[in-house]
Amino acid sequence: APVVLWFRRDLRLRDHAALLEAAKHSKHLLALYVLDDRLLKPAGSPRVAFLLNSLRELDNALSGRLMVRCGNPVREVVAAAREIRAAAVHVSADTAPYGRTRDEAVAEALAEHRIQWVPTGSPYAVTPGRVTKPDGTPYRVFTPFYRAWAQHGWPRPADTDVSIVDWVKPSSSVSLPESPSVDCALPPAGEEAALSVWHEFLSDGIADYAAERDRPDHSGTTRLSPYLRWGAIHPRTMLADLDSSEGAQALRSELCWREFHADVLWNRPETARRNYDRRFDGMRYDTGKTAQEMFARWCEGRTGYPIVDAGMRQLLAEGWMHNRVRMVVASFLVKDLHLPWWWGARHFMQHLVDGDLASNQLNWQWVAGSGTDAAPYFRIFNPTTQGQKFDPQGDYVRRYVPELRGVAGKAVHVLKERPEAYPEPIVDHAEERQVALQRYGAITGS
Ligand code: FAD
Repeated sequence: APVVLWFRRDLRLRDHAALLEAAKHSKHLLALYVLDDRLLKPAGSPRVAFLLNSLRELDNALSGRLMVRCGNPVREVVAAAREIRAAAVHVSADTAPYGRTRDEAVAEALAEHRIQWVPTGSPYAVTPGRVTKPDGTPYRVFTPFYRAWAQHGWPRPADTDVSIVDWVKPSSSVSLPESPSVDCALPPAGEEAALSVWHEFLSDGIADYAAERDRPDHSGTTRLSPYLRWGAIHPRTMLADLDSSEGAQALRSELCWREFHADVLWNRPETARRNYDRRFDGMRYDTGKTAQEMFARWCEGRTGYPIVDAGMRQLLAEGWMHNRVRMVVASFLVKDLHLPWWWGARHFMQHLVDGDLASNQLNWQWVAGSGTDAAPYFRIFNPTTQGQKFDPQGDYVRRYVPELRGVAGKAVHVLKERPEAYPEPIVDHAEERQVALQRYGAITGS
């Protein structure tokens, strides 16, 4: 009997454990994707556009045989499976809160029709929940998690021979909607694009990655995050190409951060919305009218702090922001403007093409000090020195803040004269730092 392969965060055909498993059971596979409003509505246009472009690429790779349905997955997956009299629905596991609940409901509905539910693999090298301390409890600190994760290891990439698969021609399928038009420049979508970005990085970027990854003025990182988000490439494919060089080790550790946050979210699903460290429930944040005005200035990239403004404008222009600058702007929102971290997290989720619940919410909490393994709250980024250190010639700032293009070199970080069009700093960092420390002291008694 034919089987269904329901694609979700695994929009590729290579190194695909669930596809391999499905192909073991049947040669006749129906490729299915369900457009689900519960996921699409909060996503923001850049990510939706990139998803739809990725689906178009997947459909091309399947010679137009991707069945697309629209609506509640409980109804749609069952209907698709029944339509072709499938024996089973294969998936790669979704470990985020909504996906878990949805999958339980779908599996239950399928069982009523005696259709099997078969999860194989996940979007991670090690499926969240599998790396535990010897006593079976989850890790709270990254470094020991990293050691245990590396020791746990992962299988070699699955060498799926898709030529043996006969993709069932869908009898009913909606056509993919047009991608919403977006103001930012999206990267090319799909598995081929992901692999070519990766192979180029292996030949040109990996050797210098350890030193270059903190330089937003250079293009020293992979920029694979949107592809990892939708599974156009699997982290295992990348890990298999990494040796023991310095650059490879640094990248392995970054990939592990992605797995660590997914593991935390798996163990504590409520941390998508709530503080991991519950002491922070008592933290005083500003939320009134002035706070909202400050927030709007932060979103637009008009705080008067050049590195912060460059980052926020990169986000609007590209749907992506360099990791170092994500940390700087997040710290600025929480510790200089005293705004709730979840305001910033929501803005990121609306604009990031790579927006991912686990990585986003838990990185925000990490910066805010309310997460696991926190950067101690009292270590407060100074936006000016961060700019001087990581954008030493000021090139990054000038690229995204046109008002400052007339200011040469590193002087963009400490403006002696402000061009008229560029705003005065909205707060004084030294003063706000003290306020932040006092508020922190009030919840920790330090
Ligand atoms: P590279 O340096 O090339 O790293 C390779 C891959 O490792 C990345 O693609 C990513 O999958 C993973 N990675 C690297 N750093 C981290 C990290 N700190 N946490 C988790 N995974 C990491 N990343 C997202 O994918 N989605 C998000 O929504 C997201 N939100 C963030 C919010 C804040 C406040 C901060 C500080 C970081 C956030 N990150 C998020 C992590 C990181 O900034 C991006 O993964 C990275 O900038 C993507 O660029 P890259 O692919 O070139 O990274």
